[in-house]
Amino acid sequence: MPRVTLPLNAPLTSRLCVMCGDEGEPKLATFHRIPPAAWILVIFLGLPGLVWILLTSRSRTLQLPFTEECFRRWKFGRNLGALSFFMALCAPGGGMLAAEQTGDPSWTLKGIGTAIVLLGFPAFLRYSKAWGGPSCVAIRDQETVIWIPSDEAAHALSGTTPPA
Ligand SMILES: [Zn+2]
Repeated sequence: MPRVTLPLNAPLTSRLCVMCGDEGEPKLATFHRIPPAAWILVIFLGLPGLVWILLTSRSRTLQLPFTEECFRRWKFGRNLGALSFFMALCAPGGGMLAAEQTGDPSWTLKGIGTAIVLLGFPAFLRYSKAWGGPSCVAIRDQETVIWIPSDEAAHALSGTTPPA
C-alpha cells in the first residue's frame, strides 16, 4: 500500500477509486492525525487523555476519488472505529468505578484490558479488506501524506506509473 503526498489545494489528477481502483467520483474526506503517544495516555488517563488528543491532533479535509460503494464502506468502518475508540476512553474509568463499588481491585485491570482491545479494533479495521480505506500518515502546512490501499489509484494520484 503506497503513500502519496498531496499538495494542499492541488486539483485531483485521477478519478480512480482509492480503495478498489475502479472509476470513481471525487468525495470530501476528512482525516485526523493523532500522535501515537496519545493512545497510551488514553489507556492510562481515559478522558484527560482525550483532551490532550484534541489539543494536539490536526485534521484536514480534502478531495479523494471513491466509488459510491467503497465510500459507504469506508465511512461505515470509520464510524465503527470511532465508536470503539470512545468506548475505550470510558473503559478504564468504568473499571475503577467497578473496583470501588465491588471492592475487587481486579476490575481496574479488566477496564484497562478492555481499553487495549477496543483500541486495537480500529487498527484491525484499517487493514481489513472490506472497510480499510485511505488513512492519514502526516498533515503538514502545505501537504498531506495519505496511505492509499489501491496501488493503481496511488500511482495515478501521484502522477507516476506503477512498477511492472
Ligand atoms: Zn472503490
